Amino acid sequence: MRLKSIEINGFKSFADKIKLDFETNITAIIGPNGSGKSNVADAVRWVLGEQSAKTLRGSKMEDVIFSGTDHKIKKNYSTVSITFDNSDNIIPIDFKEVTIARKLYRTGESDYFINKSNVRLKEVRELFLDTGIGREGYSIIGQGRIEEIINGKSEDRRAIFEEASGISKIKYQKNESQKKLFKAKDNLTRLRDIIIQNENRYTFLKGQSIKAKTGITLLQNIEKAEFSISYKEYNYLNSNFTKFTETLKISKEEFSDISKELDDVKIKIAPLKEELNNITSLVEKDINELNKITSQKNDIVNKKNVLNERNKFIKLNNEQSLDIKEEYKSNLEKINSEI
Ligand code: ATP
Repeated sequence: MRLKSIEINGFKSFADKIKLDFETNITAIIGPNGSGKSNVADAVRWVLGEQSAKTLRGSKMEDVIFSGTDHKIKKNYSTVSITFDNSDNIIPIDFKEVTIARKLYRTGESDYFINKSNVRLKEVRELFLDTGIGREGYSIIGQGRIEEIINGKSEDRRAIFEEASGISKIKYQKNESQKKLFKAKDNLTRLRDIIIQNENRYTFLKGQSIKAKTGITLLQNIEKAEFSISYKEYNYLNSNFTKFTETLKISKEEFSDISKELDDVKIKIAPLKEELNNITSLVEKDINELNKITSQKNDIVNKKNVLNERNKFIKLNNEQSLDIKEEYKSNLEKINSEI
């Protein structure tokens, strides 16, 4: 496994895209102080997943993005990709060449890629376990670090040797398993708490469930009873309906017979009506005539009455005249006798 090249764009002092090819022999990067040599090593650390801004000699991760100079405006993102020759298959992936890339935007959005596939940081780390390359690997030794290692604590040195001898992978896996175990224990404790909390609720709900079941059975019974009642009612109504339908049919037939008869009668009545009208007009004529005759008769009766009255008067006059005549006669006789 060999580092083949590194491409840097917008990382620290590298505002523009640069590509460094590492040939099979020793490659040295030479430059004056502050020209950016250490930035190349930082780029390697960063692309392999370094999370500490301090290790990258900044105060926050955004500091790795080119921040601009008097002549160049700042960049909005930084990207580094590093390519390994994997023809000896030391990196456990089925590719002869492996390219790891990391991209960071000022917004904080960050991505990792293995051979252009978007991956998580964890996958990048796991890929390089046991290869001697990594964030904490011995393959990148910064300025003053050798002195630090020699003068440092034996545990720190041990960590470096472990990484080199391949134990770190097992340690990593052990750590991961321990983390999972702690998580599982935590979950267990939480579950126990939840179980205890829910026990009372469970008892309450069980009671409720029994009540609900009883309720459901009762409801079902009611439904059955209602159904049987409805069924009886339905039968009764249905038989009535059939009867009514038959009666209605008969009535309809009768009605149509009667209608026909009525039509016949109407036809027969028509000339009679005409005759009646004629007779009525004749009767009206007769009545008028009768009225005339009656009034004439009344006139005659009135005249007769007047004549009768006159006759009575004359008769009375006549009688009075006779009386007077008798009186005169008796007077005359008297006178005669006196004479
Ligand atoms: P030395 O030999 O002194 O250690 P060096 O060659 O390793 O120096 P570096 O430390 O890699 O140089 O680079 C430092 C330079 O990088 C400084 O000029 C600094 O201004 C520049 N630099 C660092 N971060 C950024 C950034 N985000 N944007 C622009 N320039 C940056």
